[in-house]
Amino acid sequence: MADILPKPLQRLILVLAKLPGVGSRTAMRYALHLVREGSDRLEELSAALDETRREVSLCPSCFGMSEGGGLCPICASPERRGETLCVVEGIGDMPPIESAAQYAGRYFVLHKLLSPLKGVGPQELHLDRLLDTVRDHGIAEVVLATPLTTDGEATATYLSRLLTQEGVRVTRLAAGVPVGGAIEYLDRLTLSRAFQDRKEL
Ligand SMILES: [Zn+2]
Repeated sequence: MADILPKPLQRLILVLAKLPGVGSRTAMRYALHLVREGSDRLEELSAALDETRREVSLCPSCFGMSEGGGLCPICASPERRGETLCVVEGIGDMPPIESAAQYAGRYFVLHKLLSPLKGVGPQELHLDRLLDTVRDHGIAEVVLATPLTTDGEATATYLSRLLTQEGVRVTRLAAGVPVGGAIEYLDRLTLSRAFQDRKEL
């Protein structure tokens, strides 16, 4: 059906269908909905996208999200304990850890996990920046909060070896994190317990 629609609408559908969890049918539903809502809604979406494109980038220190090319609010905060660094897979893992309120240190976002099966090796994980951060900020403890999946465990094991050589205390989220579970979707209590029960590797 998409090919009877105007070309710009077809392009919009193709773009929307690339979003996670959105197939081509849902993409078409969204696109038609936006057009039905009228030009104000399209303008609103377009302005939000444009502002995001211009203003949002990766924090140069932790690789989380920041605004205007500077440090993110966490890296910029003087309240944050500078000697603890929590390593997470993705930016989506940070808000639940924050709301569990057990952690007041800094973060480092990997964006990828080591995966021998998918051919992702250590050279793809900007680990040189992780080591720079550990050295430059005098980090005493690194909390490995990668998921308890095969790739998450492989990454934690690799990082543990690397960081132990630097003389850093390395801990890993423990009890409470279900095997195969993504950190991003854990409830507050589970995550809170996991932080309390973290253990030496
Ligand atoms: Zn940051």
